[in-house]
Amino acid sequence: MARVLVTGATGFIAGHVILQLIAAGHEVRGTARSAASGPNLNAVLSKYAGKPVSIELVAANLDRDEGWAEAIFGMDFVLHVASPFPAGVPKDPDDLIRPARDGALRVLKAAKAAGVKRVVLTSSMAAIAYGWGDQRPALLTEEHWSNPDNLKDNTAYTRSKTIAERAAWDYVNGEGKGLELAVINPAAVLGPVMSGDLSASLELLTQPMSGKIPAVPRIGFGIVDVRDVASAHVAAMTVPEAAGERFLVSQPFMWFSEVVEILRAEFPAYQKKLPKGTLPDFLLKGMALFNPSLKLILPELGRERNISNEKARRVLGWQPHTAEEAILAGAHSLVDAGVV
Ligand code: NDP
Repeated sequence: MARVLVTGATGFIAGHVILQLIAAGHEVRGTARSAASGPNLNAVLSKYAGKPVSIELVAANLDRDEGWAEAIFGMDFVLHVASPFPAGVPKDPDDLIRPARDGALRVLKAAKAAGVKRVVLTSSMAAIAYGWGDQRPALLTEEHWSNPDNLKDNTAYTRSKTIAERAAWDYVNGEGKGLELAVINPAAVLGPVMSGDLSASLELLTQPMSGKIPAVPRIGFGIVDVRDVASAHVAAMTVPEAAGERFLVSQPFMWFSEVVEILRAEFPAYQKKLPKGTLPDFLLKGMALFNPSLKLILPELGRERNISNEKARRVLGWQPHTAEEAILAGAHSLVDAGVV
């Protein structure tokens, strides 16, 4: 049994991480920007787990120093999941980059000072597969790094994840030597939600299922089930060989049109809402001028980003659900939560 801090405990991925840690017998503490979220978080976790769950919640903001030392005090491991992940594009990219990078450094420094054994950082495929332009390798692996300076093949969010992960490695390879770091790089995370308070990635299901897009844009993504993202975090915390390594977690690339067809086959009642035909690129670009959440997908137009999950399977013993299972579990949970 270990004592584990999960940052951003109120989030989609963190909720599943917390429940898997508890199921494995660990003692969990969480952070949130407001400790007042505690009762609601415990109620949501208990409902999903089908038994009482009660974790302690400590207030800490990635933008500030206060709270981190107290939150990390006495912990064996820290799973740093928190990072801003808005559904739109911020006016100033630094609104995302600053908390992502400086927040990661705050957590790592506090972990080092507290004698934590290992930190697991939730990075993203965004730190591997972006900014390549036409030079993108046919198969991306953990050896690859995104180029955050190529603004045509990035969003503020993808840049924030690359810059934060780089800063984390630079810290543990320099000033923070001795602190172990492992990094999880998920693709688009779907799978079951615990409440109607949704991560931005669920828009891949809520947008088509609520009739918000008339036709399917020519985009696609790797999909991974949130339960498998959580199990990768738990394994990366304890598997000795995971120290000093990053792990891509995703199923193979899938076009959005294929996601829509999976939804169409499963949910006949949503036929009228689901998009039909292909949305021409020029139309999407025009719509993005008025709909900020569409700006996020502009770098995806026509781009196939293929990744390998071989390392996670080999080193972490990772055995993921299929993309179809992640899509359907996510969609059913959204229907059950009354979101779509
Ligand atoms: P959520 O939006 O559900 O969770 C994000 C969490 O980050 C929230 O708990 C939020 O806390 C916290 N957070 C945001 N800004 C701050 C801040 N300034 N200070 C403290 N906490 C903050 O998203 P996910 O669960 O999907 O994302 C979790 C992590 O996974 C993020 O690092 C994200 O980049 C990464 N990721 C997600 C993917 C996906 O497809 N979902 C794919 C790849 C990586 P609060 O409740 O206070 O708002």
